[in-house]
Amino acid sequence: MEEKKTPKKPLIFYYFVVMMVLMLFNALVFPYLMRGRITEVDYGTFLSQVDSGNVSRVEVEESQIAFIAKNEEGKDAVYITGRMDDPGLVDRLHKKGGIIFSEVIPKQNSPLLNFLLTWILPVVFFVLLGQLLMRFMQKRMGGMNAMQFGKSNAKVYVQAQTGKTFDDVAGEDEAKEALKEIVDFLHNPQKYADIGASMPKGALLVGPPGTGKTLLAQAVAGEAKVPFFSISGSEFVEMFVGMGAAKVRDLFKQAQEKAPCIVFIDEIDTIGKKRDTGMPGGNDEREQTLNQLLTEMDGFDGKKGVVILAATNRPDSLDPALLRPGRFDRRVPVELPDLKGREAILRVHARKVKTEEGIDYNAIARATSGASGAELANIVNEAALRAVKLGRSLVSQNDLEESVEVVIAGYQRKGAVISQKEKKIIAYHEIGHALVAARQTESAPVHKITIVPRTSGALGYTMQVDEGERVLMTREEAFNKIATLTGGRAAEELVFGSFTSGASNDIEQATKMARSMVTRYGMSREFDMMALETVQNQYLGGDTSLTCAAGTAEKIDEEVLSLIREAHDKARRILQENEQKLHELADYLLGKETITGEEFMEILNRPQ
Ligand code: ADP
Ligand code: MG
Ligand code: ZN
Repeated sequence: MEEKKTPKKPLIFYYFVVMMVLMLFNALVFPYLMRGRITEVDYGTFLSQVDSGNVSRVEVEESQIAFIAKNEEGKDAVYITGRMDDPGLVDRLHKKGGIIFSEVIPKQNSPLLNFLLTWILPVVFFVLLGQLLMRFMQKRMGGMNAMQFGKSNAKVYVQAQTGKTFDDVAGEDEAKEALKEIVDFLHNPQKYADIGASMPKGALLVGPPGTGKTLLAQAVAGEAKVPFFSISGSEFVEMFVGMGAAKVRDLFKQAQEKAPCIVFIDEIDTIGKKRDTGMPGGNDEREQTLNQLLTEMDGFDGKKGVVILAATNRPDSLDPALLRPGRFDRRVPVELPDLKGREAILRVHARKVKTEEGIDYNAIARATSGASGAELANIVNEAALRAVKLGRSLVSQNDLEESVEVVIAGYQRKGAVISQKEKKIIAYHEIGHALVAARQTESAPVHKITIVPRTSGALGYTMQVDEGERVLMTREEAFNKIATLTGGRAAEELVFGSFTSGASNDIEQATKMARSMVTRYGMSREFDMMALETVQNQYLGGDTSLTCAAGTAEKIDEEVLSLIREAHDKARRILQENEQKLHELADYLLGKETITGEEFMEILNRPQ
């Protein structure tokens, strides 16, 4: 991306213009000026003119003879005639006497000019052409100069102060604790040096997306008030082998000059993936970059005050060499926030918007179990947007509750046209879920039921909110969850005697739950405490893969099926026992479209 050369179009361009002008002059203007002055005559006329003594001067050229002779008015005029093979001409002119005559000497260029024209000019021409092509190619390849290997575009990675502090990060108290130690070290390294302790060179922030890893690193920089070199792992990925390594070298060189400082490598899994995964050829560039990173981390003195932070949500894919003590020896988990954490995060973000008095953040936090910090930030923002849309100047509790649903299920589809018959089916389906949930002691109480369709494709849903935070799940709770999920379909069967495709999501979730019970929680009769599946990428979706024989896999399926069957039967039984309430509640929901948990419980507990 060097831009030291100025555009060079002018020189060649002007040559060209001058040449064109000269050629035009030659071709058009000179002949025009000469026309009328020179008269062409035949050879006989020429000879007779010579003989009559009119000619004063003759010039013999290669293919013609020009001569000056007196015309009829007795004035000198220029004539030309074709040159003939006439050996006697010289004799004739000489004998006549008084005529100046000569043959034009063929033009001979100077040897120097000849040399320039035949040797130097072509070379210059080709060099210019080459340069032109080169420039063109460079432009095509994104300003990269293949001749500049290893120089690395000396970008200064220093970022201005981030302006973030630990106050901006809510929840995540353990992570903050671990990082505060690093900040303290950057402020007084002597305290640590005196006792002979050296600070961990690197800390690795691991956790699911959106939990605030990047935010935490920025907060560390803001608190420590030192230069903060921030770079994303993907920025090291280069097209040419060695370029990424050069960048790493460069980064560490700059960091050491600026010590004490923090180097933050975001999404480090891009370059830190395990090497040698058996792929033929491998990825030389990435491996070299990683090797360089390992070398640099070994190479610098930890006491100087360069701290390396890195973030990833795929810690299991990192190269073990990167994780050994002396490199990223400290691992700081940044997990999804718990109830208290969620409430704190909501409050942090609510500070930025104008809200009504007395908002119950705890209620919102309870409704958002499993949400990440980024999602909670989004919920607060959605609520503010909704308040503006409804023409209010303050965010209300209602805005927040509605925006939870927006983030979970998408916006309301106001324009969706659903026939009355289908609306009825949906209402019974949702009440089925809610009723089964409410009649099972271990289930979370119903919070809200709605049959307003959403942009996510949900036609209605039943929201359940736990009273507090749960960290453990008993077998009964897990089983009841499956029963609740089958409740929708069970209600359809019971009331309409047939069923619809509306339960597809329930089926997916119920199966997932039952499978986990069998393969990972040890909650089946058949397999005691045997692990049948392992989880990969626990922070990204948590895909599982079977670790058992094919025969066992078959048995797992049977177990899963029998669990779901059992739960489905239970749901049917509950609904049959409460059929009267089912009709009553479904009617009520059809009329109101959205009902709260309190309304639901009120009708359910009302004596018949
Ligand atoms: P990641 O862990 O994927 O790097 P980020 O740090 O980029 O996540 O978080 C994205 C956004 O989510 C932040 O800018 C912030 O607004 C919000 N956020 C996430 N976690 C928290 C938290 N613990 N406290 C406050 N805000 C948070
Ligand atoms: Mg991030
Ligand atoms: Zn359902």
